[in-house]
Amino acid sequence: MFLRSLFLLMLLSMPAAAQVPRVAADIGPVHSLVARVMDGVDVPALILPPAASPHGHALRPSEARTIENAEVVFWIGPDLEPWLDDAIGALAPDAHSVALVPAAADHEEAGDHDDHEEQDDHEGQGGRDDDHDHARLHAWLDPQVGKAWLDTIRETLVALDPENAVIYEANAEAGRAELDKLTARIEEIVAPVRGRGFVVFHDAYGAFEERFRIAARGAIQPSEASPPSAAGVAALRERVLADDVVCVFSEPQYSAGLVRTLIEGTEARTAVLDPLGTLIPTGKGLYPALLDNLARTMASCLLEG
Ligand SMILES: [Zn+2]
Repeated sequence: MFLRSLFLLMLLSMPAAAQVPRVAADIGPVHSLVARVMDGVDVPALILPPAASPHGHALRPSEARTIENAEVVFWIGPDLEPWLDDAIGALAPDAHSVALVPAAADHEEAGDHDDHEEQDDHEGQGGRDDDHDHARLHAWLDPQVGKAWLDTIRETLVALDPENAVIYEANAEAGRAELDKLTARIEEIVAPVRGRGFVVFHDAYGAFEERFRIAARGAIQPSEASPPSAAGVAALRERVLADDVVCVFSEPQYSAGLVRTLIEGTEARTAVLDPLGTLIPTGKGLYPALLDNLARTMASCLLEG
C-alpha cells in the first residue's frame, strides 16, 4: 500500500516536460523560431553547427544522433537540404517531419505555377517564381515569412503536445508581434538607401529584397554550389564600374578575394552579410537579430560617403 501511494506520488510529481516531444531544427534561423514557440517548455536541438552551410553538408555522428533522437524535425525543406531529406528518412522515419519550404516539384504538381494570384496569397510558403528559385530557399529573410512559420510551428506543437498548448499559443502570438515590430523597424532602416545599387555574394536575398522593396544589381554567384565563371566576374565588374554600385556584400563563409577583385579601383565599398546568423548566439533571439543586423549592415554600407 505504501509503495503504491509512493508510486502514485511520483507519477503526480512528474513534470509535464516528460510528455514534451523531442524537437530538432536544421539551421539557426529555424531553430530560433522553434525556440521562440517552445520558450519555457523546452529547448529544441540544433542539427547543423552554426557555421555550416545548409546547401551541402556531410553529417557528423553527433548530428546523426540528434536526428535519430528527434520526434519532430522542423527544417527548410528538400530543395535546400537534400542531404537532410535522406537523413530524416533513414534515421528518423517515424519522426514528424515539417518542411517549411515545400519542394518545388510538389508546388508544380499542385498547379501553383499557373495561378500567381493564389501564390501571392501564400506568404510564408516561400512562393517565388522559378527565376528566383534559389532565393526561395532562403525565405526566412522575409520576417513576414518567419511570422507565418511561427504559426506552422505552433500548430504542430499544439497537436503533438496539447498539455502545453497555452504556452505555445502565447509564445507564438508574442513572437508574431515582435516580428511585426521588426518589419516596421527594418522599413525605417532601409528607407534612406532604397534605390542605391549593390551586389550580393549569392542569390539568397530575394525574400528580403521583395519585402523591403530594394533590389540587388547582381550576385557574384547564383548559389553556393556554383562558383562564378571568369566571364561572370568580368561582367559583374563592368556593372560595378558603370552601374553606380555603392556596395558589394560578402558572406562569412566565403573568401573575400572575389569581392576585392570586383571593387578594386572603384569607389564601391564592401561589408559582410550573414544570412544564417552564424555570428549570433543560438536561441530565440537569433532570428530577429539576424534580420536586424542584415538591414543595419546593408544600410550603413549603402549610406556612407
Ligand atoms: Zn543559398
